[in-house]
Amino acid sequence: MIHTDVVIVGAGPCGLFQVFELGLLGLKAEVVDSIRQPGGQCAELYPDKPIYDIPAIPVCTGEELTAALLKQIEPFDAGMHLGQEVQVLRREDDETFFVETSKGTQFKTRAVVIAAGVGSFQPRPIRVPNAEDFEGKSLHYRVREPEQFRGKKLAILGGGDSALDWVLELADKAERITLVHRRDEYRGMPDSVAKMKQLVADGVMDEITSAKATAINGENGQATSVVIQPKEGDAVEVEVDHVLVFFGLAPKLGPIADWGLDINRKTINVDTEKFETSEPGIYAVGDINYYPGKKKLILCGFHEAALAAFAIKQRIEPDRKVHVQYTTTSPIMHERLGIED
Ligand code: FAD
Repeated sequence: MIHTDVVIVGAGPCGLFQVFELGLLGLKAEVVDSIRQPGGQCAELYPDKPIYDIPAIPVCTGEELTAALLKQIEPFDAGMHLGQEVQVLRREDDETFFVETSKGTQFKTRAVVIAAGVGSFQPRPIRVPNAEDFEGKSLHYRVREPEQFRGKKLAILGGGDSALDWVLELADKAERITLVHRRDEYRGMPDSVAKMKQLVADGVMDEITSAKATAINGENGQATSVVIQPKEGDAVEVEVDHVLVFFGLAPKLGPIADWGLDINRKTINVDTEKFETSEPGIYAVGDINYYPGKKKLILCGFHEAALAAFAIKQRIEPDRKVHVQYTTTSPIMHERLGIED
């Protein structure tokens, strides 16, 4: 059981900045995210795309913003618990909270900040019989070790940037790649589509469009072939060692819906003084919250994180007034930031 001041649900930009604002006030945070990398939508949906409206940063990509936020929160040494979803959130008799993740990590915390964005990202699964038998062995929704595909026969399913990026990345490693897309047109970057088409023209890989996989054959989790059904004509069977599926990520509100909070469609109602939910001690910042005038912008989430941090400090230390101090001049903040005066 990890004891902490605050558990932050979600390591998107707002969850990461929440660590910073809490840290400045001397509060320790633990961050949990269901995906394996920090950065939320910025890292998962648009790592290479430019963002132009972060104050004082004329332009940065989603990945650069995430890296900068991680650098900024380094002094506060927050625990990062990635690849696990927060599933249980329960108030205890002593007004602390019990939090538990899908991997069984448990926390006892004095406050909770939900920075869960549009929900917890889950890869959209392939719908074929017995898919779960192959999952993690020869059916993959993510590539963790590209080397495992060296010299292998791969079916890559999907028509977006992820599918195309991995086709291009693995083309010279794999023995053979068959790209299967349910439409004729690709959603990915035109440049990637052109490069993939060139590989097909050069005879390096195969492409099947307007078709979908209807079955995976194999034994003991090891795929041996995929059955591809075109929109018109007969099904074909393609020999494979691995099937890589990139049908995109679907955010799901998931367990948050069961925590007894005042939910407004897929968002959580908060006040605009503390960004507290209907449950005292549980706060919500970033895309997940709702209040009149709410805008789903990163800079708005940063402001919300600052005010939530002050509110949490006041809740934890009700007898002391929480003063605003400037990072420029405050010795205590310099100490917390690890800066020598
Ligand atoms: P998110 O970034 O959504 O992160 C939330 C995290 O919480 C996710 O990683 C999720 O996995 C995790 N999570 C959810 N539930 C759980 C759970 N139960 N357990 C564990 N983890 C959980 N905004 C701008 O201000 N400027 C822009 O230029 C801009 N461009 C954009 C471009 C695109 C293509 C998109 C899609 C969005 C853009 N946005 C932009 C919006 C911006 O990305 C969001 O406002 C921002 O990511 C919200 O941050 P967040 O931290 O609230 O949530």
